[in-house]
Amino acid sequence: MISNIKKEGSDNSKVMYIAHHLTDVSGPRLTNSPGFLRAANWAKDELTKWGLINAQLEPWGEFGKGWQQEKCYVAMVSPYYQPLIAVPRAWTSGTKKLLKGEVILIKAQDTASMVQYAGKLKDKIVMTWSAAQLKPSFDADGRRFADTSLERMALAEMRQPGGPNQPQQQNAQRQNRSGRFAIQRRINELINQEKPALILSMDASGNDGTVFVASGGQYSKNAAEAPANVMLSSDDYLRLQRLIEDGIKVEIEADIKTKFFDNDMQGYNVIAEIPGTDPKLKDEIVMLGGHLDSWHGATGATDNAAGCSAMMEAVRILKTLNIQPRRTIRIALWSGEEEGLLGSKAYVKNHLADTANGQWLLKPDHSKISAYYNLDNGTGKIRGVYLQGNEAERTIFAKWLESFTDEGAKTITINNTGGTDHLSFDRAGIPGFQFIQDEIEYDTRTHHTNMDTYDHLVPEDLKQAAVIVAGFVYNTAQRDEKMPRKAMPPARPVQQRGF
Ligand SMILES: [Zn+2]
Repeated sequence: MISNIKKEGSDNSKVMYIAHHLTDVSGPRLTNSPGFLRAANWAKDELTKWGLINAQLEPWGEFGKGWQQEKCYVAMVSPYYQPLIAVPRAWTSGTKKLLKGEVILIKAQDTASMVQYAGKLKDKIVMTWSAAQLKPSFDADGRRFADTSLERMALAEMRQPGGPNQPQQQNAQRQNRSGRFAIQRRINELINQEKPALILSMDASGNDGTVFVASGGQYSKNAAEAPANVMLSSDDYLRLQRLIEDGIKVEIEADIKTKFFDNDMQGYNVIAEIPGTDPKLKDEIVMLGGHLDSWHGATGATDNAAGCSAMMEAVRILKTLNIQPRRTIRIALWSGEEEGLLGSKAYVKNHLADTANGQWLLKPDHSKISAYYNLDNGTGKIRGVYLQGNEAERTIFAKWLESFTDEGAKTITINNTGGTDHLSFDRAGIPGFQFIQDEIEYDTRTHHTNMDTYDHLVPEDLKQAAVIVAGFVYNTAQRDEKMPRKAMPPARPVQQRGF
């Protein structure tokens, strides 16, 4: 069966066709935006066409407002004309008209120094002083794991919170950083209160025209609309800053339209199934998934159309081969991941395990999920799997990976990895796994940027990932036992179950 899976996945792959529809055709997929719903409905229809059953957009609870940008023009018009690279931050307002005005540079290191600006920023175009300096980069944007790094991961012992891998110095640095963030947040609030016409922002991690852009406002039902706020490319931002510091008057023209959607505040996950066939095991479930929502600066190709495309392709392969799985196979494409794993957390709460007064309230399906497999670390191929601290899986996964060592996937690490939807399952005592993936350009160029486009996907890597996931899901569906579980973790309220 594994060689049939490999053959179907390489000879008839549809992974790039899926990715094209989720990115180019659907557009950005901010949760509850029209782009998200285009992608979700397309995925539901496509899964149905392939023969999966119960394909649906399943509501998981109230998320809040959708939002999209509808126009974005920002240019410097004085001392000379220059179009600027700009992307509105999510859930911020537009400018309501074509603005033209001088840019005010706010220099404030603490909240006290904001007093001098009180009453002076209303209807103005403002930016805050940045200490950032851009440097040429001498490292390649894209990278794969070196064998030595993979070997280190394989030999690693379990990381303990606060243990030797996290020395005190790092903790101090982290506290320092979060202190600085808190001051910056407070300064931003004070600026918002002054009701400027437009705020110019920058994120120093972006260079060479790459803009890292996420939220600048709030999506909850009753939240006030944040003022217009655009993320500029760092190069453009720092040029404006230098000119203003030279005493040169800098004027900007901007016309920004954004739209909030509040007709339906429900969040939706896309769910579909291949039904199990074994009379004793068909009520048990193997899950696979990734988050379908994205940020809006581009089309969320590596974060995370890549993962969704590989997962959809995995079930397409299994369905095409007409496997008759013993257990039911269920795919889930989540929403609200970027806002804190909201869709998958709510799914677990609604179907599997809730908490009250520090106690678990386990639902019948809690005992029926064998495992959940997740992909959300970009376009890179699979190099192995994180055990998430569950040593009992090691020999099982090692056996399965033997079929894929020639494709570069052989590493098993005891460690966990964070930041994505398998945690929602792991924190409720259900085996949840994210695969080890090559980074490619994830951190340097694509993750949450205006460059996260179809062109940054690597077709061969996505094909490989889909085939390996299909193999894991197939093996999980067929084995006699469910996957071994860790002891139940403490029953923390759903909001506090980490990221
Ligand atoms: Zn992601």
